[in-house]
Amino acid sequence: MAHQPRKRFGQNFLHDNMVIQNIIHAIYPQQGENFVEIGPGKGAITEPLLKAVGEIDVVELDRDLIPILHQNLDHLGTLRIHQSDALKFDFSTLVKDNQPFRVVGNLPYNISTPLLFHLISFLPHISDMHFMLQKEVVDRMAAKPNSKTYGRLSVMMQYHCRVERLFVVKPGSFFPPPKVDSAIVRLEPHATNPYNVVDEKIFAQIVTQCFSQRRKTLRNNLKKILTTEEIESLGINPGCRAETLEISQFVEIANQVSSLQ
Ligand code: SAH
Repeated sequence: MAHQPRKRFGQNFLHDNMVIQNIIHAIYPQQGENFVEIGPGKGAITEPLLKAVGEIDVVELDRDLIPILHQNLDHLGTLRIHQSDALKFDFSTLVKDNQPFRVVGNLPYNISTPLLFHLISFLPHISDMHFMLQKEVVDRMAAKPNSKTYGRLSVMMQYHCRVERLFVVKPGSFFPPPKVDSAIVRLEPHATNPYNVVDEKIFAQIVTQCFSQRRKTLRNNLKKILTTEEIESLGINPGCRAETLEISQFVEIANQVSSLQ
């Protein structure tokens, strides 16, 4: 069955067997584990996963790929295709026997950040996640304070998960080749969250606010929320930039705001 890759669905299909093997090796799928794949495409990663575990749920937006997936993969195990937009998909419907599931995806790069935030709302159901993303996005997710790439995405991802950049994948491994390098990232939700956030909604808002103008000081970005004295009382210099703060310091600021409400 012929299928023209579609740009609007962010379609770059993996065809490099070495890379596919490396990804599967990193995921280390075991028989009987619950797997959910987002954007299976024509099944480059789905095929070895299905062989290893025997059944899989996939969420794919492009309805033209569905007959191709069935044709390529049905003989290998139980393939359940959910034709849907992953950004709106209720992943909690895939929980079986109260067991958390593992998430895998070579994600369309244009939706990767909103999709990561969407998945955060299902973290109690997720045991781990492996994604292929634009390398630059993986670098931002894994960045530490005092680096140019450290920002809202780093803080929010590392607040919820252990973030590990695994390896880089070059454009030539895909058809059509993307314009940028890609990287595989592993996300492991913290078994118990190491931070004591009073109100996660306020925490998320404060992180966004602190980075709203990267080059401005905390005092400036938080002007309407906390006074200079209130920031100082946390032992944080109001004249510094958000990119110098540890996650625990964002937590302190957020909890201070919560306590004032
Ligand atoms: N995993 C495959 C395909 C990667 S391309 C491979 O590695 O070869 C990205 C895939 O995500 C495509 O199949 C595309 O149709 C699908 N996709 C794009 N937007 C989506 C969305 N919002 N929800 C679910 N799938 C989506």
